[in-house]
Amino acid sequence: MLYEVVREEIGSAARPTFQVLNPANREILAEVEIDSPVDVAQAVKRARVAQKEWATLSFKERANRLHAARKLLLENKAQMIETIVLETGKPAPEVLIELLYICDMIGYYGRKAEKFLADRKVSFHLLKHKGGAIVYHPYGVVGNISPWNFPLLLSFGDAIAALMAGNAVVIKPSEFSPLCAHLMMDFCHKAGVPRDVLQIVNGMADTAGALIDEADLISFTGSVPTGKKVMERASRTLTPVLLELGGKDPMIVLQDANLERAVNGAINGALFNSGQMCISVERAYVEAPIYDSFVQKVVEQVQKLRVGVETRSGDSIDIGPLMSERQLAIVERQVEDARARGAKILTGGRRREDLGGYFYEPTVITDVTDDMLLLQEETFGPVLPIIKVKNAEEALRLSNDSEYGLSSSIWTSNKVRGMALARRIAAGSTCINDVAINYAIPELPMGAIKQSGFGYRHGAEDGIRMFCRVQGILSDRVGMKRELHWFPYNRRSEKLVGKMLDLLFKR
Ligand code: NAD
Repeated sequence: MLYEVVREEIGSAARPTFQVLNPANREILAEVEIDSPVDVAQAVKRARVAQKEWATLSFKERANRLHAARKLLLENKAQMIETIVLETGKPAPEVLIELLYICDMIGYYGRKAEKFLADRKVSFHLLKHKGGAIVYHPYGVVGNISPWNFPLLLSFGDAIAALMAGNAVVIKPSEFSPLCAHLMMDFCHKAGVPRDVLQIVNGMADTAGALIDEADLISFTGSVPTGKKVMERASRTLTPVLLELGGKDPMIVLQDANLERAVNGAINGALFNSGQMCISVERAYVEAPIYDSFVQKVVEQVQKLRVGVETRSGDSIDIGPLMSERQLAIVERQVEDARARGAKILTGGRRREDLGGYFYEPTVITDVTDDMLLLQEETFGPVLPIIKVKNAEEALRLSNDSEYGLSSSIWTSNKVRGMALARRIAAGSTCINDVAINYAIPELPMGAIKQSGFGYRHGAEDGIRMFCRVQGILSDRVGMKRELHWFPYNRRSEKLVGKMLDLLFKR
């Protein structure tokens, strides 16, 4: 076994465990002890105590420690890459994107947190004799529950902002890929982030449920059905939740688009991380005049992609395995449903048992119709359905006819039209002539609507303020004995207030 995660704090008695598998060959990588609800409660209790001191450190001091963790991450880059490759099977260049994001988040919020969370003076439009301030406080203990598809980025991205805001953080990583989070936590501890300020609890639904019960704020990233359970559970304690859920992102390609770029964008957007990306292109709507050449070019390029096992010594691969048998079964079910209802599979369309892991060929499908599962449910696999549309209006109508609303993209050489269409897409974010990269830009809010969740990740100040509770403070500047609206009531003050009402609002 390559990694063993040993719990130091409690240890001893034999506890239930789960296994972490390498999805590229199904080998066992680690046996991880499950944290019980009692363990989780104790972890949060320790975090709550440690947070008090962490919050008293200056922003600079907190940033220094996270910068030191970043230095350790970069010095041990090879180990982190190997860990993520082993527990997800993804190609190393895709892992580097996760590292880039984490390093940038540390730099960005390390630099900006103090400014974004500074007290804000507020002057009032009516009661000019009073002044106000908005003050940001850390929530206390932020619980992060994350999925497996970007195991480092989705656990530590939120953790960095939350820590910079003065919170303690308890992460419940996905049971499929918890190892890289442990490694990153280790770097943070060595860099001076106190052990109780940043902790990991391991397990599945029970562990996550206990974290929801105990934490002061939950940032959850995962599927729609689990997101609903999280919200239901959080309602018992009225714990605020940030929900970033699944998607069924449309891509609209207009006839004036730069065809080569749109083709490459479609392939990358649909197949990056074997399509296991919340903001994957899951449907491409292409205007009729360019449809045939678009499809032909996509198929030609997809057929050149190398599917296989990432080995650090061998050649690069493009497409790794899916994460699990369950994920493979979802993709297979959707493709088979489409096939049975008359869709054309132009390339791919089958699992690759010969490769040993949970591999599925990159797949391009046409002649798909709205009633097929492939267009209704999130696929989360290496499948690109391409749909011919008469015009942009039809593309918009079909794009918006979905219960999801995460991200989207529009491809056109007419920037004004692109912007006008982008506004009409029912999604939390939209790229024009680009795809998915919006997620990596901290200045841009990455929101969601409909079943894809609510709340925003990123968005400059909002990206860190969401880990704070906001306090509004009012202060009287004049010091009169009593205000007009205070006891005892009398006709004179009633008259005065009445006059004020007319003066202000009658016209
Ligand atoms: P999942 O919902 O199965 O699991 C997510 C996390 O929730 C895991 O840590 C899991 O252990 C935990 N969990 C399981 N049951 C729970 C319960 N009852 N209560 C609380 N937590 C529970 O999702 P997944 O399969 O790990 O990830 C894939 C999904 O995540 C896809 O739908 C994808 O679109 C979504 N996702 C969304 C974003 C985004 O930013 N919107 C990003 C990445 C992934």
